[in-house]
Amino acid sequence: MPGRNEGPDRRCPVCSAPLGHEDRHPGALLAALQASESRFRAAFADAGIGMALVGPDDLIIEANPAFAAMIGYEAPDLVGTHIHEIIDPEDTPRRLYLELVRGERDRLRVEKQLKHRDGRVVWSNVTISLIRNGSGEPMYTLAMVEDVTEQRLLGDQLAYQSLHDPLTRLPNRALFFERLNAAFDSSAAGAGTASAVGTAGADSGAGAGAVDGGVNGRGGRVGLCYVDLDGFAAINETLGHHIGDELLVAVAARLERGFARGEGRLVARLGGDEFAVLVCDSAGSEQLTGLAADLIKTLEEPFDVAGQQLAVTASVGVVERQVRETTPTDLLKDADATLYWSKSDGRARWTLYDPARGAYQLSRQRLATALRPALERGEFAVEYQPLVGLADGTVHGAEALVRWRHPRYGTISPDRFIPLAEESGAIVPLGKWVLEESCRQAKRWLTEFPDAETFVSVNLAARQIWDSDVVADVANALATTGLPARLLQLEITESAVLGPGGRPVQALQALADMGVRIAIDDFGTGYSNLAYLSRLPVHVLKLDGSFIAGFREPGPGGRPDKRSRRTDADEQIVGAMVQLAHALGLTVTAEGIENASQAERLRLTGCDTAQGWYFARPGEADRVSAMLREDRARSGS
Ligand code: C2E
Ligand code: MG
Ligand code: MG
Repeated sequence: MPGRNEGPDRRCPVCSAPLGHEDRHPGALLAALQASESRFRAAFADAGIGMALVGPDDLIIEANPAFAAMIGYEAPDLVGTHIHEIIDPEDTPRRLYLELVRGERDRLRVEKQLKHRDGRVVWSNVTISLIRNGSGEPMYTLAMVEDVTEQRLLGDQLAYQSLHDPLTRLPNRALFFERLNAAFDSSAAGAGTASAVGTAGADSGAGAGAVDGGVNGRGGRVGLCYVDLDGFAAINETLGHHIGDELLVAVAARLERGFARGEGRLVARLGGDEFAVLVCDSAGSEQLTGLAADLIKTLEEPFDVAGQQLAVTASVGVVERQVRETTPTDLLKDADATLYWSKSDGRARWTLYDPARGAYQLSRQRLATALRPALERGEFAVEYQPLVGLADGTVHGAEALVRWRHPRYGTISPDRFIPLAEESGAIVPLGKWVLEESCRQAKRWLTEFPDAETFVSVNLAARQIWDSDVVADVANALATTGLPARLLQLEITESAVLGPGGRPVQALQALADMGVRIAIDDFGTGYSNLAYLSRLPVHVLKLDGSFIAGFREPGPGGRPDKRSRRTDADEQIVGAMVQLAHALGLTVTAEGIENASQAERLRLTGCDTAQGWYFARPGEADRVSAMLREDRARSGS
């Protein structure tokens, strides 16, 4: 073989010194060359790895048996064969190969598909080295070829398994995320192109933008239908898991057949009975809601599973938006929330993500973490709603109702943040603040109206009673504000009064001993058990507004025959409760009085005090002061 001792390093085969000194040992040189040639020939012929020497015309000069066997030939068959008969020219990184042939690089490693004589593909790792002549010019290339078909197939299989669900053969969660992320990456690249185009000038860039941006370039959009079967758990439980599995397979097949068409589409099983249809090149939310409607329709047709007809419905959460406005995680999170809305709105329907509804949920979390800092910044305020004596129509006291004056969301109602404060424990410092603020206000009323004995009624959350030293907090609030204990009332719900195992809260007794009055709030919504109340240090029952719902419609001019039976029954129950409470030494307050007839009927039942919009809405402390002033003027004191 010519030139084989003229490899890239070109050293003397006798002494290994750089060439150019051969005349120093001429006899030895010939012998050495011959030895070298036979060594090389043996190595070439016996090598376990495939080898081929290729000329500059891309014709094979010589191939070894290992290489020939790899592609189904005898070694001599290959001499003179054009390499493109063995490898696909398209498949070659031609540029790199040409660089090699031109001598611009010495070695190249590529993974190649070779054509076997019987037509199948042989995957190989190929290392191509350039062989130069004595003056360093490129002469031949030597390819060393390793068959990696088996590894490759195994790898493919593993890759397939890791990206597909074994039951339904659908793409799994991992592949779904891979595609989703890719949609975002390609769009980010597209967006980059677009902005570069923008700076280059609209005209010159328009063509490039249109080509590049085909899928996701123009600030691409992405859409997702998150599908969950309704009542799948019941099917699993009643018919057995094998039926459940078969149903999932049938559902998957139907979804894939109907919705996996097109480049940018993916139907995946995300787990259990959850499927997703991803649209990487969405045209807008109508496309996605249309798709969701089709999905639901497609699944409506009963499934034939193990000889029985099974009907299922599905709920779908739809999210569609610009890629640059979102992240894969947010997209999925919102799809999940939207699916939940579909379920809670009645199932068998699709729901499109609603940012306002989403913001409400998001703000739940935000609000919870913002509570304590907001308290420190002084964003809370207490409003007061008068408690009016039904017998004389004067103000006896006022309930303290906390509000959050949020700098961004405006006034937030306690119904929204008290439960969050209870969950997070922020209720303890917040409740303490409300308590002290309310006592300070009641002390002001006492100073201005010493004879009115106006009390303040403060709500206590269960957690305040159980998790904090509420007795010390109350004592402290009374001491620092100078309010007599008898002018403080604490409102506690029935469930908060009774601890685990129905054990009443000890703190209650300590508070009562201090002289503070205890009221049971929202009575009628919980156990409504008057018997246990008699054993507790409780002074007041506050009947819940809903409990006297029958009183709500304005009375028909007091004519009993026109009243509904419901109203009568409610009145009798309230009347009986008032009597029983009085027998136990409790006073009764009614909540939610919105009109005069309700007030009058309650007065007739013997109810002591009332609270409601009819008398006054919750408001500034000054409004209560104004009412106290009117009372004083009327009584002439
Ligand atoms: P609650 O203690 O039962 O307070 C009465 C609720 O009824 C108040 O709602 C009040 O504004 C409302 N209301 C008053 N009159 C009428 C009426 O005529 N018709 C109707 N439909 N509603 C009326 P608000 O102020 O939104 O308070 C809601 C709940 O938040 C309170 O229910 C109480 O449980 C809790 N809350 C308020 N402030 C505090 C507080 O400082 N600490 C604690 N732990 N809870 C509080
Ligand atoms: Mg209350
Ligand atoms: Mg209440």
